Amino acid sequence: MTGQPGEALWSPLAHMPSVLGRRTVVVEGDGAYVVTADGRRLLDATSGLWHANVGHARREIADAAAAQMARLETYQSFGSFSNDRALALADRLVALGPVDDAKVILTSGGSDSVDVAAKLARRHWVEEGRPDKRHILSRRDSYHGLHGYGTSLTGPDIYREGYGPGTLVPETAVFSSTDIDDLRRVIDEIGPERIAAVITEPVIGSGGVIAPPPGYFETMQELARQHELLLIADEVITGFGRLGRWFGSERFGLEPDLLVFAKGVTSGYAALGGVLVAPRIWRRFYDGPDAPLYRHGVTYSGHATACAVAEANLDILEREGLVERAGRLERVLADALEPLRDRPDVAEIRAGVGLMAAVAPAATIPNDAVVAEALERGVILRAIRENFIQISPPFIVTDEEVDRIATVLAESIDAVAARG
Ligand code: PLP
Repeated sequence: MTGQPGEALWSPLAHMPSVLGRRTVVVEGDGAYVVTADGRRLLDATSGLWHANVGHARREIADAAAAQMARLETYQSFGSFSNDRALALADRLVALGPVDDAKVILTSGGSDSVDVAAKLARRHWVEEGRPDKRHILSRRDSYHGLHGYGTSLTGPDIYREGYGPGTLVPETAVFSSTDIDDLRRVIDEIGPERIAAVITEPVIGSGGVIAPPPGYFETMQELARQHELLLIADEVITGFGRLGRWFGSERFGLEPDLLVFAKGVTSGYAALGGVLVAPRIWRRFYDGPDAPLYRHGVTYSGHATACAVAEANLDILEREGLVERAGRLERVLADALEPLRDRPDVAEIRAGVGLMAAVAPAATIPNDAVVAEALERGVILRAIRENFIQISPPFIVTDEEVDRIATVLAESIDAVAARG
């Protein structure tokens, strides 16, 4: 080890020998832009990891955090303790969310929330006297974070390599992301009496920006109803506006029993996530002296500063009409990418559902080389699965900036193709 500054940081999902000495170190943000340690100003066409929906470094949110910390950094929410910010945010989230008469469990992020929802789904059936209903089904291309449960629910097998045979959490199974008949097959194979829940992203994000094919969710809901399976919507990316509605479930008529959120609730200004829980599940836990107790919690459940930050973020989304703006930009982004469609060096474009898109260059052009080239040209893109490139700018991006993203992407594909 040479002892370079920062060498101690073992980055997530990174091949460390390739990363060391080649990091893009971000030191400042400014709306849709970030600035690096070596002074480059980059247009953030991915909103970081799909999080910076209101843009970077907004003073109003920083002020809300500072004011809260100076008053009370946080107080825990275990047992009969709580704090005023967690209570206020919970009421606001329930009023905003698509789950009627919900309760909310607050966590510190998306993976954390997936664990809470999956465990609660199993717990629900135990309380219902049907303890065999334990399997949780997920889609082949989904991403549900990488805590214990998420490692097993996230679709691609690579996330489970190296932990020994089987999956980390047993009683999980995947089905096709696009052919809903495959869900029928998996239900028949396992037996509905052994299945607790199905989890789905409204639009699959990091797995390749996959919108549901026509009829896919209708059949999923029908099967869930018919076989008494709980429905878990993972809205970590789609929650809080990315699809032009507050929640993706609204856009597709999904009626989840559990709705998982994170990222957009604070636009990444603090680590916060949570789960909206439908009455069908929470009622038993609220009812009478013999009510059972759901033993899940983390020190930062309902962290007061994170909750104050979330409220400031929601204020901005509402005041500036950013959810509607994201909805309008959906077309702008899809139109900007349209000229790429006929190029022989572009294999596929997925756009037109929300302010999110993915472009796959031809198989001979590696997505990570295109992303590196775009970075040189001042635009942050992200290589995701199966040679796709993620585009998901902040909601405050202008039409001209969307055009620039598409132009730089096209030029970067050209440049990599020309190098051969
Ligand atoms: N679920 C989805 C759909 C996600 O996209 C992510 C993260 O990208 C997660 C869960 C995990 O969230 P976190 O990284 O905050 O743990």
